[in-house]
Amino acid sequence: MSVLETQPPAFTPDGAAEVAAKAFGLAGGAATDLGSERDQTFLIESPAGDAVLKISNTGEDPAVLDLEHEAILHALRVDPELPIARPLGRSVHGDHQVRLFERLHGRKGGPELDDDAVRAYAQTHARLNLALRSFFHPAAGRELLWDLARTPQLRPLLPSIADERRRALVERAIDRFEERVAPAWPRLRAQVVHGDLNTDNVLLDERHRIAGIVDFGDCSHSAQAADFAVALASLLRGRPVEDVFRVGRIAVDGYASRIPFEQLELDLLGDLVAARLAMIVAISAWRSARYPENAAYIQAWDDDSWTLLEHFDALGADAVARELGAAAPAVPTRELAARRDRAVGGILTGLTYAEPVHLARGEGVWLLGPGGERFLDSYNNVPVVGHCHPRVTEAVVRQTRALNTHARYLYEPLVELAERLLATMPAEAALDTVMLVNSGSEANDVAWRIAVGATGNRGAIVTEHAYHGVTDAIADLSPEEWPHGFRPASVATIAPPGSGADVAVELDRALGELDGLAVTMIDGAFTSDGVRVATRDEMAALVRRTHDAGGLFVADEVQAGHGRTGEHLWSFAAHGLVPDLVTLGKPMGNGYPVAAVVTRREILDRFAFAGTVFSTFGGNPVAARAALAVLDAIEDERLVVRAAAVGARLRERIAALGAPGVVEVRGRGQITGVELESPELAERVVNRLREERILIGRTGRRDDTLKIRPPLVSGDEHADLLVDALARALA
Ligand code: PMP
Repeated sequence: MSVLETQPPAFTPDGAAEVAAKAFGLAGGAATDLGSERDQTFLIESPAGDAVLKISNTGEDPAVLDLEHEAILHALRVDPELPIARPLGRSVHGDHQVRLFERLHGRKGGPELDDDAVRAYAQTHARLNLALRSFFHPAAGRELLWDLARTPQLRPLLPSIADERRRALVERAIDRFEERVAPAWPRLRAQVVHGDLNTDNVLLDERHRIAGIVDFGDCSHSAQAADFAVALASLLRGRPVEDVFRVGRIAVDGYASRIPFEQLELDLLGDLVAARLAMIVAISAWRSARYPENAAYIQAWDDDSWTLLEHFDALGADAVARELGAAAPAVPTRELAARRDRAVGGILTGLTYAEPVHLARGEGVWLLGPGGERFLDSYNNVPVVGHCHPRVTEAVVRQTRALNTHARYLYEPLVELAERLLATMPAEAALDTVMLVNSGSEANDVAWRIAVGATGNRGAIVTEHAYHGVTDAIADLSPEEWPHGFRPASVATIAPPGSGADVAVELDRALGELDGLAVTMIDGAFTSDGVRVATRDEMAALVRRTHDAGGLFVADEVQAGHGRTGEHLWSFAAHGLVPDLVTLGKPMGNGYPVAAVVTRREILDRFAFAGTVFSTFGGNPVAARAALAVLDAIEDERLVVRAAAVGARLRERIAALGAPGVVEVRGRGQITGVELESPELAERVVNRLREERILIGRTGRRDDTLKIRPPLVSGDEHADLLVDALARALA
């Protein structure tokens, strides 16, 4: 028989004092009834000391009491600071199991708990669950009516709710539970939990912090989110409705500061709180009818529970769920595009494709739309180790939880990253100093300032359709972005290698156009110039002539670095050249903004620069951890070798198509340019592939070259998908 269906024990205070004396030797004590639902609880004040006596219902299974007892001891062993009332003794008195607990001081709390107290409450709750998560007991699978998993079993109790409107309200909460929570329940994290950490089961100190957790009577194996929902319902009950969700989110924060929620848990939290409220009122109605003499205790929470349940019902379960962290459904693509246009269209680059690619997730080489439709990403060079690589996302999340601050304080990740980057640079380059920044543009901007300071010159040489960044200085060094007919007087351009011109001659001509050279800045993959492959001699000539002219050579590895070219981590290393400055970005954090300038102390010493550089987010611990994780994943997965093999095969297969519109296939590693007959054909091909959900781009001065830059994790099977689609598009 369930303990809820047996009569609770009915000892008088004197009787209880006698039990305390006989069973636990607390002679001469006075007992005060503390009130309880299915047991009796007395405060015993005796000459030998104070304690709390619990006289259990005769229906109570001894194994369950053992579960409670062991759970408390376990939690206290794991986290001795947890404010749990310690068990002092167990015994039997007649038909009753009797237990003695440490007396803790404090008061009961409720809706008057302020935000800090709510946060701390939830934090303590999470601590308790952390302490219990390694606990096992054979009785933990006990059947407990109060277990939220059993919400559907409330239905037979519904006739006890006299008011028809209210009955319907509870019914709707149960329906919703069956529809949304029950099917997902097996996927919720579960463990032994307290099960009823409501504000009546804790004692609070004068600052309203939990000073005592007192009743493990609902301890069982259950979903952690359900256990939290029980506590949350009690924290929210009785508050002004306009405050309910704000306070609820603060409680979520408090719990999450110790145990981060999974999205599924947040998706279901609102429904779980509603189920708990429904459970309170339904069980209360049923039990009050059965035990009218105990009705006052049983119904203590009813009014506030009904009020909150009514508020939830009026708002609608979806809205409630969202208020507490459930994921919102995707906005329809057209509507989202219109909103984007209104909010940022005046300044931000337009969307790629007439039919926007609307995305919700990424995994490896795949990008996924809100409905789960998959796009093969053969375009984006940022997710170099694949979209949402767990090594990187976990590094970012862990470091975000631990610390994120700026480089004026000392912390390991920045130093580790700087040392690691230097160690990857070819020894002959003697690069010894790193400046961490936030974007490729910023890296190039810093490189430019250093070069101007170190050389005293203000001229720059770049390839004729290069892109190096967005800042004022670097936009000047980015002919791809120049308005028609514009060229800053301080910038001269050269034709990229492989375009028929002699780069040495080109450089000499360019030098003639300048009044002193500060930098020659080169993207090692010549990405915006249509993807080009320079020879060792061409690159050597560029560097030598740059130095002869008093300038510095900047290897812009923002595109070509991090293994993309398939030979070395850094594309310039394949040419054995010695750059003065190396800039890194884009793939460096696999999507987390982080970039770097690598140079030599000797160059920094030469320039009359205003001391040192600082960039608020530059080299922050999270960015540094992301960058370290990327380097780790590239190494562990041997991605540089893979990029070389998969990229070479891709180019061979495209060339072997012998498709009529193809002029030239070129590239290194996983950066491939396919020059086509005309920009129009290139545009048609890009759009055809988009229809097949394969993403590539266009590049080159005439925009006639297909730009293919998949994540380095992509394999032959992905290359084959692309080539087959390309064959269809070119046919
Ligand atoms: N350099 C090169 C070679 C680039 O391709 C880019 C970006 N396309 C940049 C610099 C600028 O990087 P960011 O957009 O991160 O500022």
